[in-house]
Amino acid sequence: MELKAFAVTPGLKHKFTGRQLAALGAAVGDDASVELTTVQQLLVRMDASRWESARAVIAEQGMKIYPVGEVVKNVRACGFCQGDDVEGYPAAVALDEAVAGLPTAFPLRIAYSGCPNGCAEPLVQDIGVVKVGDGFNLYVGGKASGLLPRPGLLLAEAIPEESLPDTILRVIRFYQEQGKKRERFWKFVDRVGMETLAQVLAQPAQVE
Ligand code: SF4
Repeated sequence: MELKAFAVTPGLKHKFTGRQLAALGAAVGDDASVELTTVQQLLVRMDASRWESARAVIAEQGMKIYPVGEVVKNVRACGFCQGDDVEGYPAAVALDEAVAGLPTAFPLRIAYSGCPNGCAEPLVQDIGVVKVGDGFNLYVGGKASGLLPRPGLLLAEAIPEESLPDTILRVIRFYQEQGKKRERFWKFVDRVGMETLAQVLAQPAQVE
């Protein structure tokens, strides 16, 4: 049997309804495997022949589908506990829509927190975003796994909301262009250096 693998989330609020879970289970079939991963997503492996109908049901039920493998993962978000506007929920959604699923040298994890409490643990992800006041601070090169975890480094601060997706896209595009095969993002940050990344952000925007 040919297998189809993909990831499903309920959106950045990470709360499924019972109806969504029931529809997902029925759509992917009894033999599908559904694995909970560390980036707030369900990783589904199912009979590929049912994929098209399952995709329609998942979308109908308001869930989001993401590719798996060497891609930018869905944005891991905090709980937006003080309200969507105060904590920048629309900015996090726009960021997710701009970057999730882009191909990369190694799976790339992004975390977003709506205040410096950092509930989504943004400082130990490849890319971390923290809302501070009206702007957003960007951290790169954090690492939670292994015996030598480390915090990310501050690459830019007070980024305005309208510039946030493009700022992070610039970093990701540079990684896409310059990253070596299977090079983890934190190693890439070490190799190219923070100064180079700051220069990438300082370049004038390309007119498309
Ligand atoms: S990071 Fe801040 S806004 Fe987000 S859940 Fe934690 S305390 Fe609430």
